[in-house]
Amino acid sequence: MTQTSLIDPFARPITYLRLSVTDRCDFRCTYCMAENMTFLPRRDLLSLEELDRLCSVFIDKGVRKLRLTGGEPLVRKNVMVLVRALSRHLESGALEELTLTTNGSQLARFAAELADCGVRRINVSLDTLDAQKFRAITRWGDLEKVMAGLDAAQAAGLKIKLNAVALKGVNEDELPEMLRWAHGRGMDFTVIETMPMGEIEADRTDQYLPLSLLRARLERQFTLTDIPYRTGGPARYVEVAETGGRLGFITPLTHNFCESCNRVRLTCTGTLYMCLGQEDAADLRAPLRASEGNELLAQAINEAIDRKPKGHDFIIDRRTRRPAVSRHMSVTGG
Ligand code: SAM
Repeated sequence: MTQTSLIDPFARPITYLRLSVTDRCDFRCTYCMAENMTFLPRRDLLSLEELDRLCSVFIDKGVRKLRLTGGEPLVRKNVMVLVRALSRHLESGALEELTLTTNGSQLARFAAELADCGVRRINVSLDTLDAQKFRAITRWGDLEKVMAGLDAAQAAGLKIKLNAVALKGVNEDELPEMLRWAHGRGMDFTVIETMPMGEIEADRTDQYLPLSLLRARLERQFTLTDIPYRTGGPARYVEVAETGGRLGFITPLTHNFCESCNRVRLTCTGTLYMCLGQEDAADLRAPLRASEGNELLAQAINEAIDRKPKGHDFIIDRRTRRPAVSRHMSVTGG
C-alpha cells in the first residue's frame, strides 16, 4: 500500500519525482532539440544543495522513487555530490529507488560511483547501433563512448534498460536487431513514440511511428506475450519468447496511461510540471528561497498537486503543426 500525503484530484498517489538537474546536453538529438537551443539562464539554476532540499521535501511527503534526468544529468557540474547526498534517503529506507536516465556518454566515468551510491538500475537512451546514423541523430554524439559507458555500467553491476525513440524512416528497420542485441546483453529494451514537445527543424509527422504498427510488425518475427511487469513508469511490457527478454512500449500517442500516472517533474530552476504534456506549472524556487524552513515549500507542493491535470492529449498530424507544449523534452527530461 502506498503511503503518501501527495494525492491528486483524481485520487492518484504521487510517489515518483523526476528531477531534471540541467537542461543542457552534450547531444543535440534531432527529434528532441533544435540545433541552436536557448537554454535556461544559468543565474536561474538551483544549486545542488537547493535541489537536494527540494527532493528531500518531496521524499518527506511520500515520494518513493526519484529519477535524475535532464538535459544530460551527468554533464551537470559536480552532479555526483547530489547523488551521494540523496543516497542517504536510500540508506534510511525513505526512498525505494534512486535512478537516472542518461545518454550514456559520461557513464564510463561515473558508473562505478553511481553503483556505490546505491543506484541499481539506469535507463540509457540509444536509438541506433549504427555509428554513422548515431552521429546523424545525435548531431554531436560518439557511439563508441556510449558503448564504453554501457560496458562500464554492466561491469559496475548496474541493470540497464535501453530506451529507443521509434523514428519512421530512421531506425524503424533496425529495431528488431536492437531488441536482439539488448536482450543478448541482458538489458531490457523499451521503444517510445515521439512526442510533440518544442520546436525542432524536422516535421514530427514525418518522424512519427505509431507503436501499434511496430508491434504488429515485430509479431511477424517474435512471439510477444503481455506481462504485468511494471517499473513505476509508463511502459507496458511484453516478454519476447525468442530472446527471453522484456520489451517495453511507451505509447503517449496511441494509448496514454494517464489514469495510472504517479509522477511529477521538477526542472533545474525549481519549476514543477504536474504533467509532461501540459503547460501548467508551479514555481517552487520562490518558496524555497523565501525561508529557511520548509513550510512554504510544502504548501506550494500541496497546491501544485491539487491541480495536477487528468492527462495529456498529444496529437501529431499534418493539420496540427504546433507542438502540444512549447518546451522541449530536455527541460523536464521525459
Ligand atoms: N539526456 C538523457 C537521455 O538521453 O536519456 C536524459 C534526457 S532525454 C530528454 C530523455 C529521453 O527523452 C530520451 O530517451 C530521449 O530520447 C527522449 N526524448 C527526447 N525528446 C523526445 C520526444 N520529442 N519524444 C519522445 N521522446 C523524446
